[in-house]
Amino acid sequence: MTNSISTRLAVIGSGPAGLTAAIYAARAGLSPIIIQGIQPGGQLTITTDVENYPGFRDVIQGPWLMEEMQAQAEHVGTKVIWDHIVSVDLTGRPFRLTGDGGTTYFADALVIATGAQAKYLGLPSEEHLKGRGVSACATCDGFFYRGKKVAVIGGGNTAVEEALYMTNHSHDVTLIHRRDSLRAEKILQDRLFANPAIKVVWDSEVAEFVAGGTPEALVGLDLRNRLTGEVSRLDVEGAFVAIGHSPSTELFKGHLELDSDGYLKVEPGTTRTSVPGVFACGDVMDKIYRQAVTAAGTGCMAALDAEKYLAAQEYAALAAE
Ligand code: NAP
Repeated sequence: MTNSISTRLAVIGSGPAGLTAAIYAARAGLSPIIIQGIQPGGQLTITTDVENYPGFRDVIQGPWLMEEMQAQAEHVGTKVIWDHIVSVDLTGRPFRLTGDGGTTYFADALVIATGAQAKYLGLPSEEHLKGRGVSACATCDGFFYRGKKVAVIGGGNTAVEEALYMTNHSHDVTLIHRRDSLRAEKILQDRLFANPAIKVVWDSEVAEFVAGGTPEALVGLDLRNRLTGEVSRLDVEGAFVAIGHSPSTELFKGHLELDSDGYLKVEPGTTRTSVPGVFACGDVMDKIYRQAVTAAGTGCMAALDAEKYLAAQEYAALAAE
């Protein structure tokens, strides 16, 4: 017999956005469920030190912060479910979700907080040095490379913004791009080229992230020139891979409107998606800010939007009686 669960509000995804939505919804008396997904706690569970989440003077650990958020969500009345949604039907009411073990969830309102994943180059040496010199977020980790030589890999808006941001911490920033022109907006390019702390290595890709020292950490990059095939060493202690993010929206293709980069579209200034009663928050709808604190902020907005939607539905049902 397959299991089924009915709820007023289901939240999919358990990063800062989803857990904050659950905390607000639970405190509004909606008894939400949160379905954790493949990576319970989201991207913060794969980072270490967090120094920019407000409220903590000392460095905290990403996984610890997420455990605390989950404990708070449960404490105020959220039911946390360890499952992964594999299909959704948003055509009828209630919405119908199916978990990978066959459980069916029926929800009057839905908050989507499935997040996004930073893209990496996929080299074994990159994987080996993640958190020890290799990062995909300068805003999160740049501070740890004060006064050190660093590199940023990519040629889009994110890469250029990260290179510019890193000049707050380092006087020696190298942008490495695989072509001879950048994809980033002109205004960002102008700022980049005008900044004396940044140099650009064109037509080049990272062949290897080089480890050294004790404890082992990044000491350099072997760069291959794509035109000549020549490999040269760049000494750096930090490398930020900024080649884009992939929002986790596969599940919603054909059900909800996505933008040209695959992010969930919301009405500006709200978390309302193209289907009434379905709300989106965090990195799955935000390709600009992507911070834990902004994800938590939009999670709060989603819960408030959902609460308002459910109240209006209830009022309409009463009026129709
Ligand atoms: P993006 O625009 O897709 O750029 C990715 C960059 O990484 C490109 O330059 C690409 O090179 C390079 N790249 C991709 N795969 C690579 C690989 N395997 N090896 C080496 N280089 C690789 O991604 P994004 O910069 O993260 O931006 C994503 C979206 O968010 C864009 O729409 C962007 O405009 C937006 N965004 C906006 C802002 C803002 O408005 N302030 C800030 C950040 C992001 P090629 O150029 O050769 O393809």
